[in-house]
Amino acid sequence: MYSSKYLELLIEELSRLPSIGQKSAQRLALHLLRAPKEDALRLAEAIRAVKERVGFCSVCGNFSEDDPCRLCTDSSRDGALICVVEQPGDLLALERTGSFKGRYHVLGGALSPLDGTTPDSLRIRPLLERLRSPNPNGDVREVILATNPNVAAEATALYLSQLLTPLGIKVTRIARGVPMGSDLEYSDLVTLARALEGRQKAE
Ligand SMILES: [Zn+2]
Repeated sequence: MYSSKYLELLIEELSRLPSIGQKSAQRLALHLLRAPKEDALRLAEAIRAVKERVGFCSVCGNFSEDDPCRLCTDSSRDGALICVVEQPGDLLALERTGSFKGRYHVLGGALSPLDGTTPDSLRIRPLLERLRSPNPNGDVREVILATNPNVAAEATALYLSQLLTPLGIKVTRIARGVPMGSDLEYSDLVTLARALEGRQKAE
């Protein structure tokens, strides 16, 4: 039993977050309660701002408040190189390595017919349109598949390479530095940078 219903409510909300259990939720709530008011409200304001202002980039599918996003409009990035990832978190992980200077395309998941994830429920059509439309930086010459090392991602990579290779686009996959079954998003930076560097032609 908590002495305050608002405290109880905050703990309940925090415990809904991924990887936050009841104990952590309680610790965070008590921390926020003790923290200076402006610090706690800054967190509340940051949450409000992302929910109210951040949408999706219609080109790459990443989160952004601008459309197209900063990554898609940055003229210093190589538009002939597109790295395909499953989720925005994977893009963030690759961006943190600082070793990729091309552009991105977020699929929104991996092919898994058993779960109802078909090519139509992923952003595959927008990828094709993007590859076919005139590119101010010259045509796309390489699509790098940086999908996670698991079965659904394997199927996605295979599907995409069969789809894109006939278009005359070189399709590569990041190397197996990332262990099977692990998440790209949580790979360490060195492993990820090496995997990107050691990419190979997709079969
Ligand atoms: Zn974008």
